[in-house]
Amino acid sequence: MPESSRLIVVTADITTLDVDAIVNAANSSLLGGGGVDGAIHRAAGPQLLAECRTLDGCETGDAKITGGYRLRARHVIHTVGPVWHGGDSGEPELLASCYRRSLELARRHGLKCIAFPSISTGVYGYPKAAAAKIAVRTVSDFLKSGDRPQSVTFCCFDHRAAELHRREIAVLGSAMGESQ
Ligand code: ADP
Repeated sequence: MPESSRLIVVTADITTLDVDAIVNAANSSLLGGGGVDGAIHRAAGPQLLAECRTLDGCETGDAKITGGYRLRARHVIHTVGPVWHGGDSGEPELLASCYRRSLELARRHGLKCIAFPSISTGVYGYPKAAAAKIAVRTVSDFLKSGDRPQSVTFCCFDHRAAELHRREIAVLGSAMGESQ
């Protein structure tokens, strides 16, 4: 199955998705924050924060897994995206690392379907088109190396972000078609 057919784009609130894991764009304390992080903690309930307190934070570009508690998702994978400082401070590599490390955790736990928000593109200021390109390419490359996770959802908060991801997937699909 081509990797691009394992990629799904939806416009939704990630806290509502029924998947094995949703990814949280957390901060390095893992103790909650605004944006998608705040929404996930509100929906999951206080037990999520209690488990996060035991994790001793998380480095930028790394990821840690917890239970999903009151969420429909069984797990939350917390990753810490880079703050955008203009692009010459390792931001692209760190953002790609967030996707890879999250997928490695999902694979190690045998998860079939996971959903990502657009990491770093809110308060952390990463330009949305550049972030979508990294997200789609990194996930697609990772999926080539195994059959878990089976599917990855890019959960966008608005239609414009969804369109950016769809366009990147289309570019990838046509590049694969050309090489066959
Ligand atoms: P960061 O600090 O990594 O930039 P934010 O939470 O500020 O994280 O934003 C990351 C992305 O998540 C943004 O594109 C924002 O629009 C989106 N977002 C915010 N809330 C939700 C939600 N409930 N579901 C899905 N995406 C969300």
